[in-house]
Amino acid sequence: MPYLFPFFLFLCGLLVGSFANVCIYRLPRGQSIIWPPSHCPSCQAPVKPYDNIPLLSFLLLRGRCRACRHPISWRYPLVEALNALLYLLVYSYYGFHLLTGIYALLLTILLIVTFIDLEHKIIPDRITLSGLLAGLLLNPLLPVSFFDALLGGLIGGGIFLLVALLSRGGMGGGDIKLMAMLGVFLGWQRALLTIFLGVSSGALVGIVLMLLRKKGRKDQVPFGPFLALGGMVALFWGEAIIAWYLSLHA
Ligand SMILES: [Zn+2]
Repeated sequence: MPYLFPFFLFLCGLLVGSFANVCIYRLPRGQSIIWPPSHCPSCQAPVKPYDNIPLLSFLLLRGRCRACRHPISWRYPLVEALNALLYLLVYSYYGFHLLTGIYALLLTILLIVTFIDLEHKIIPDRITLSGLLAGLLLNPLLPVSFFDALLGGLIGGGIFLLVALLSRGGMGGGDIKLMAMLGVFLGWQRALLTIFLGVSSGALVGIVLMLLRKKGRKDQVPFGPFLALGGMVALFWGEAIIAWYLSLHA
């Protein structure tokens, strides 16, 4: 039954995506992610289990709380769907393997970071520092040597720390720790690629927003989402991109 595992993984992705939504809402507000159970942020009514089914409940309730009809953010079904699709993407690369589970975890962390940073312009330490620790503990299972992981964390975090010191606050502490976490999972080469992809995509979007006059020169565009995206690209296609780049200079 070749489709059973990916189907199971997709369902897992929806469920974990649902939990990711809880983290996205509660972590930046300093609330516990386990207690109390889900409730409507508007009327505080507890969400019934049958109204808490990923994607389906949002559609059945037509995006409104059953009790007070307050609109539910589109972010909930979006995060669930994105998380499930990312899990299928990992599966298509790594198959029925332990790495699929580890990278699925990393991708969920990146999704949580992205949506928190977009809304609050912060990246909570609870996510990045736990991720950093997880990356080091899981290292024996990753295709990256421990030395390479350490170097990735030091170079990734170090470059941004240097930028933060030189620019006096132009780079947030959250970005430094996020990059250190990515470096530990990806190793130093793909960490450098992540920085390159994050900085160039961030600059491009920043310029476009300025041209459209949506943002002034002084407005802050959160950088975390671009780093997260760069990290995802480096995870899936990093080795191919680096091999291609080195072949140009051979
Ligand atoms: Zn409500």
